[in-house]
This record gives sequence, C-alpha cells and structure tokens, in this order.
Amino acid sequence: MPRSHGSEIDTLIQLLAKLPGLGPRSARRSTLQLLKKKDSVMIPLADALMRVADKIVICATCGNIDTSDPCHVCEDVRRDRTTICVVEDVADLWALDRSETFKGLYHVLGGTLSALDGVGPDELNIASLLDRAVTGEVSEVILALNATVDGLTTSHYLAERLSESGVKVTALAHGVPVGGELDYLDDGTLAAALKARSNVS
Ligand code: ZN
Repeated sequence: MPRSHGSEIDTLIQLLAKLPGLGPRSARRSTLQLLKKKDSVMIPLADALMRVADKIVICATCGNIDTSDPCHVCEDVRRDRTTICVVEDVADLWALDRSETFKGLYHVLGGTLSALDGVGPDELNIASLLDRAVTGEVSEVILALNATVDGLTTSHYLAERLSESGVKVTALAHGVPVGGELDYLDDGTLAAALKARSNVS
C-alpha cells in the first residue's frame, strides 16, 4: 500500500502524538501545518526546542524545571521570600503562578508519598523543603497538593515534619474538589482555594 509521506514525516507525527492532548489525528494535522509553515513556524520551533533542550535544568533550591539554576522564580527579587507554596509537580507551580494570587516562592515535591507505588519520603524533594523551612526567613509553608488520597497523606506527613521547624503550615481549603488535580482547575477556583487556606498544624 503506497504511503502518503516519507518516514521522516512519519517519525515527526509519531513524536508529536506523544504530547498531551495530541492524538495521532491532531499530530498529523500539526505536522501538516509545520510542513506548510516551514519558515514562520517549523524552523523557529526547531530552534526553540534545541535551545531549551540544551539548557534544561532542575532548580537545586525548589525543584522547578527551567533553563537556569536558581530558576527564574527563586531569582525573582519581587517575590515574598517568607512564604513557600509546596506543590506536587511543575504543572501545579505553573497553574498557581498563572492565577497571580500567590507572590511567594515554591517547592516542587516531584510526586506524592504512595505505599502502593513504593514512593517514600526519600524519593521526594522533602529533605530540601525541611532545610528551607528552618532558614529563619520562611514564616509560612502552604501545602498545595492535589486533593487525592496520596496528596492528603503527603500533606499530613509534611505538616508533621514541618511542625518541628516552627513555621506556620497551611493547606489549600475550599474550592479544590476531592480527586481534583490543580492543573485542571480554572484560575478563579485556584485563587479562591489559595485565599481560603487553613492551618493544618
Ligand atoms: Zn527555583
């Protein structure tokens, strides 16, 4: 059966189909757009991908993914350095930052505790959070984990560990539905949840 395009184009379609929200059909449409817009989109996109790929680094302070270490969030002098918002994933950091309600710093755990998946405290970015909490500069840690069973378990664990440091520990309250993932919430819901945070220790 004759192929409508060469193997290089097939490879591109297959790679694009791995991206979230892009199935094979959308990947084919995106590929066709790239082919048609070689100079205005395809080449600038390829350049941008290579530039970012060359520089990807995980921030040693907060665990954010960026092209510089410390990341642009940790480096931002306009941020309130007394408050750290703890999130599971970089996607949650981006979601909260988009809401523009929170102007402090972040800490990315890289997941949640999970007995089922064998994820213990050592597998997560927890030790560095405890270190940051005792610097004296930090007065509040906001636990902004997903309202899933593992997220809640992790919040309880962190609240207990952080209580030793003497910082105020709060958690997102109303607005985050049980089972809800932060990345999927609209900005208003997220802002309300952040404002209505409550003490957990
Ligand atoms: Zn950082």
